[in-house]
Amino acid sequence: MSVRLWLIATLCLAGGLLLTGVGLSAKEEKAKLRLTLRTRVKGEGDRYGVVEKKAEWDPKKTALVICDMWDDHWCKSAARRVTEMAGPLNEMVKKARAQGILIIHAPSTCTSFYKDTPQRKLAQNAPFAKTPVPLSTVDRWGTKWCYPDSKREPAIPIDDSDMGCDCAIKCKIREPWTRQITTIEIAEGDAITDNGQETWNLLTARGIDNVIICGVHLNMCVLGRPFAIRQMVHLGKNIVLVRDMTDTMYNPEKAPRVSHFAGTDLMVEHVEKYWCPTITSSDLTGRPPFRFKDAK
Ligand SMILES: [Zn+2]
Repeated sequence: MSVRLWLIATLCLAGGLLLTGVGLSAKEEKAKLRLTLRTRVKGEGDRYGVVEKKAEWDPKKTALVICDMWDDHWCKSAARRVTEMAGPLNEMVKKARAQGILIIHAPSTCTSFYKDTPQRKLAQNAPFAKTPVPLSTVDRWGTKWCYPDSKREPAIPIDDSDMGCDCAIKCKIREPWTRQITTIEIAEGDAITDNGQETWNLLTARGIDNVIICGVHLNMCVLGRPFAIRQMVHLGKNIVLVRDMTDTMYNPEKAPRVSHFAGTDLMVEHVEKYWCPTITSSDLTGRPPFRFKDAK
């Protein structure tokens, strides 16, 4: 071998090793979720300050729960906003899945639609695991429910006593939903459940400590359902809300008479003060947060 050839061979070998090394570390980098957790901490009097904290989570010990992203809703505005959010939400879900996060689809009261699917069976067949505290046994809207906890939170900051239809012509309350909106893909390895025990079984079987929740509606199901914020906090899980991938049932004609989207922001603040941190979808997608086109 000539000196020149030897030199080229050596350089190629070194380059190859270097590339392999870079490739490995990039893969290791990708393995961690880097999140910016936002909470509100009480200072003097009734003043709360925003606190942001960086966190690194193992995607294999993390689940993403999609709450009640149904195919239809009794309120036309609410249904339209779900349709608008579903595409960007699906992009976030795809990124999360690719990073190894367990995706749990939770279209409450519609799981029988999926009864013979492997994703539904994955949830049903997860081995029973005992919860550290009893799950809520109260029923509401077709599942178990965690009502507001007066020891932990004051009344929510928006009046949803009219159920929150913000349409010009008020919608009639009914139950038109049959399944999850089809825009959100359900892939191999995902799970489908609206049940607290099944959710706990799925998490326990995989050693999952961290739960990311998105979907609707924040003043109702995203707090109250048996797979959602209040129940997960009671069970000691690290739960975070994706604050740009949620919506509320709030009618601006009701207190505090702010825009629909300002009402959602107030609910996000409530969660950050009394329940759990929030993140934006950017932490998973690397893209700007989602915004409804009507949000000012
Ligand atoms: Zn409506």
